[in-house]
Amino acid sequence: MDQSELRNSRRKFIQALGLASVGLSTVSLFSGFNIFDSYTEEESVKRVQREKANGKLGIALVGLGGYAGGQLAPALYHTSNCYLAGIVTGTPEKAEKWKKQYGIPSANIYDYSSYEKIKSNPDIDIIYVVLPNSMHAEYVIKAAEAGKHVICEKPMAITVADCDKMIAACKKAKRNLGVGYRLNYDPYNLEMARLGQNNVYGKLTKLSAGYGFNAQKGIWRLDKTMAGGGPLMDVGIYCIQAFCYVTGQVPIAVTAQEGPKTDPERFPTVEQSLTWQFEMPSGLKAEGQASYSEGFNFLKAEAERGTFEIGPAFNYNGMRGKTTEGTLTFPTVNQQARQMDDFSLSLMKGRLSRVPGEMGRRDVMLLQSIYEAMRSGQRIAIKG
Ligand code: NDP
Repeated sequence: MDQSELRNSRRKFIQALGLASVGLSTVSLFSGFNIFDSYTEEESVKRVQREKANGKLGIALVGLGGYAGGQLAPALYHTSNCYLAGIVTGTPEKAEKWKKQYGIPSANIYDYSSYEKIKSNPDIDIIYVVLPNSMHAEYVIKAAEAGKHVICEKPMAITVADCDKMIAACKKAKRNLGVGYRLNYDPYNLEMARLGQNNVYGKLTKLSAGYGFNAQKGIWRLDKTMAGGGPLMDVGIYCIQAFCYVTGQVPIAVTAQEGPKTDPERFPTVEQSLTWQFEMPSGLKAEGQASYSEGFNFLKAEAERGTFEIGPAFNYNGMRGKTTEGTLTFPTVNQQARQMDDFSLSLMKGRLSRVPGEMGRRDVMLLQSIYEAMRSGQRIAIKG
């Protein structure tokens, strides 16, 4: 066994232990060696050649922050149709670390000023934009102009006008655009959608969802220019998604209320919390809440002949659920691996993504309608 085969088999062993996905990249488990070896340039080039020869599509992650580093890169160890081929980062130390840790050839590493050069890189098939919300539009449009397919993190953009430009750029370049809606690949959320859309417990009579956590002062999420809004943009969007997939409908009107600002210093430009009420075409009311100062995470449905709910509902794993008939139990899956694999498969099969740009645009339109209702104090009719 040569040196690189030995490294690969060690990596496989570590992945089998499941440690890659819990972010233990720098932990020494066994005395004498780090659990992740350091790839040489030659090994990195060979790795990419091997993945390509296996027919996988190359993904470049743009913006190596918490989500890219904590979830997406580890998930790419578990994908069958795509692999981590490149990175785009403004932080040279991250470039160095990722290059060695994940085996990324130097030619596949970009910063924001060299980003457009990715156009001539045949290793990169898909660009995955994982930047702060206000930067999504620019980097998705540039990706399309570079002739690459694109996955964009949620929320797709901070305005509907930006979503339109992103969709138009991808259409013009004949490239696919998908949104990082991982919960569309989670068995608990899929079951909620099945139970709701098929009226398994009769017609829905009430739907409610909430997602909140305690946000740290000073982060970009609390800056309206970068985030587009507060907890609604960041985590409320999961509730909006859930209301649409549990009912199979798009809301037609909304009322909304901003919560009290008990910590105005922490929230100078965005809401601290917010509640809203959607009217669905069937007449059903769907009640949502999002917060940056309180923790909650649930999705509950009441129907004529029973109830069904999950909580936590929107996490990466550890979901739990129950219906009138008993507990819901599904195997743990890697949501991000499934999501990226399905996007890649959609490209291979020449079909649209299950979570396309149009869905991202719809949700940004719904987010904006909620803010309009919150500001005006009026019931806002939602235009398609
Ligand atoms: P982070 O703040 O952790 O990372 C963002 C990264 O973007 C930074 O590390 C940096 O990477 C890059 N960046 C470039 N310019 C700036 C700037 N001006 N300010 C801050 N960062 C900048 O954010 P997250 O990873 O948590 O979120 C990124 C996106 O992913 C968001 O849109 C968020 O909504 C989404 N997200 C989705 C999740 C999901 O479950 N689908 C979960 C978490 C986030 P670098 O140093 O490499 O340049």
